[in-house]
Amino acid sequence: MQDLLHRYIFENLDARGELVQLNTTFNEIIEGHNYPDPVKHLLGELLAATCLLTATLKFEGDIAVQLQGDGPVKYAVINGDNEQNMRGIARLQNEIKGTTIKDLIGKGHMVITITPKKGERYQGIVPLDADTLSECLEQYFTQSEQLTTRLWFATDVTEGAAKVSGLFLQVLPVDKEKAEQDFIHLEALTNTIKDEELLTLDATTVLTRLYHEDNPRVFEPQAVNYKCTCTRDKTAGALVNVGLESLLEEIENSGDIQISCHYCLKNYVFDESQVRALFH
Ligand SMILES: [Zn+2]
Repeated sequence: MQDLLHRYIFENLDARGELVQLNTTFNEIIEGHNYPDPVKHLLGELLAATCLLTATLKFEGDIAVQLQGDGPVKYAVINGDNEQNMRGIARLQNEIKGTTIKDLIGKGHMVITITPKKGERYQGIVPLDADTLSECLEQYFTQSEQLTTRLWFATDVTEGAAKVSGLFLQVLPVDKEKAEQDFIHLEALTNTIKDEELLTLDATTVLTRLYHEDNPRVFEPQAVNYKCTCTRDKTAGALVNVGLESLLEEIENSGDIQISCHYCLKNYVFDESQVRALFH
């Protein structure tokens, strides 16, 4: 099954929705990192959240959604772009005890950074006051857009077969009273979905099961992919900053320079002649 994001509106209701279902992208992000299960769940939700958020914003460029705090998870981040290319990482500093946002991140906040290809960079900061990521994001939407919004996530972190799904529902900024009524109706319907259904049923079945009486109009889905932006050239650029002397010292000790990408764990190797060439 391909990783897809679906957007939809409703014929007679003033609300819009999104459904994202991911497996390959999620597996690639957590593969090889040996994250504890609660961290995998967190990264899965953060990944789905970033896809949903990216689809609501009209921009061309990069997005980063980062959680940072003083808890066992020092930070967790998903980086993506408007074409739904995603990568991500979590950094641990202590042993994990618990599964809520507070247990994992501690006292902290969520930072959403949008870097458009043209124009000003935007940064939004939300305190992590709630127990779940969905509640924190709902606060973000209320704060930044003054639009009632709900999110639902379901994750399965089975090794090699991890899955995450996310649902998004938001009022449209038209007739306020009608929109709020429509939202309450759709929210009640959406609350009936079970995690199991969200993870195992295809998008058409999920949307038909939830909203068949409200005629959702579903747009062409957008593919979501894993893509790390690291390159040998960027790695070489970082080496130049280290300085030739330190690098030659390292080569004397280890034979060559090895640098792994923190995100995708790809290993870049530079021998002495390659290192010297960087400085000419
Ligand atoms: Zn990489």
